Amino acid sequence: MAQKLVVITGASSGIGLAIAKGFAREGNPMLLIARHIEPIAALAGAEIAYQAADVTDYASIETAIRAAEQSWGETECLVNSAGFADARSFQDVAPADFAREIEVNLIGTLNCTKAVIAGMSRRKSGTIINISSVSDRKTAPAAIAYTASKYGVRAATESLREAEGKNGVRVINIAPGYVKTNIHATMGISFAQYCALLGNPDFMSAEELAEIVLFCWKLPQSITIRDLVVAPTRTSF
Ligand code: NDP
Repeated sequence: MAQKLVVITGASSGIGLAIAKGFAREGNPMLLIARHIEPIAALAGAEIAYQAADVTDYASIETAIRAAEQSWGETECLVNSAGFADARSFQDVAPADFAREIEVNLIGTLNCTKAVIAGMSRRKSGTIINISSVSDRKTAPAAIAYTASKYGVRAATESLREAEGKNGVRVINIAPGYVKTNIHATMGISFAQYCALLGNPDFMSAEELAEIVLFCWKLPQSITIRDLVVAPTRTSF
């Protein structure tokens, strides 16, 4: 397992970056994808291809994955972490904005999955890990399109597992609560403002979540943790 190719989206920041550091420690070659990405100093020495690409652009995602596979063989693990949240009141969100949120969080996840699933199914081996959210099963009066996108991610994840589990492919839904990352930046607010917006909850670290993702990955290929909600103990959402 140590030498197999891992593809991670959203790898320039937050959860995706922490997962990339975890896989680097395992010795896996990686393709790291985000719209803006440069070589990461903390990953120096690891076998890594960096690709600036938008997960909503299927052609560029497929091209990047096929190129990495030329070097390291077919993708054994895909981690879909690219995503963002718009916490504004729905009344203030333009149609193009909520369409984009669903496009990135849900269609982006499907695009990357589409680029690897046939190979995994044929080889009877592979793991897809989707970083969903506790918002994939809990409604809230905020982040309306985000919640819809993550409900979609969870539904797609479990449906794909039902389709491909019999072919030896693991499909895993990870549903985190609050994680301290840069997710507030795309909302145009500071971390302090973000905390205030949420009612100053506890956060887990991206590294703590990455350890859990790595735990799921390191189980035998014959075992799938299908769906995992993980959140700071003292948060109620
Ligand atoms: P960050 O903002 O820290 O990281 C988001 C990453 O996604 C960045 O690398 C960003 O890079 C990339 N990204 C965003 N849009 C695109 C796109 N269209 N194409 C390719 N890459 C993209 O946030 P998090 O690490 O917190 O978020 C990661 C995932 O975790 C998201 O799906 C989020 O919904 C989920 N999550 C986060 C929680 C939290 O509390 N932080 C809780 C539950 C789930 P770039 O902008 O350069 O493209």
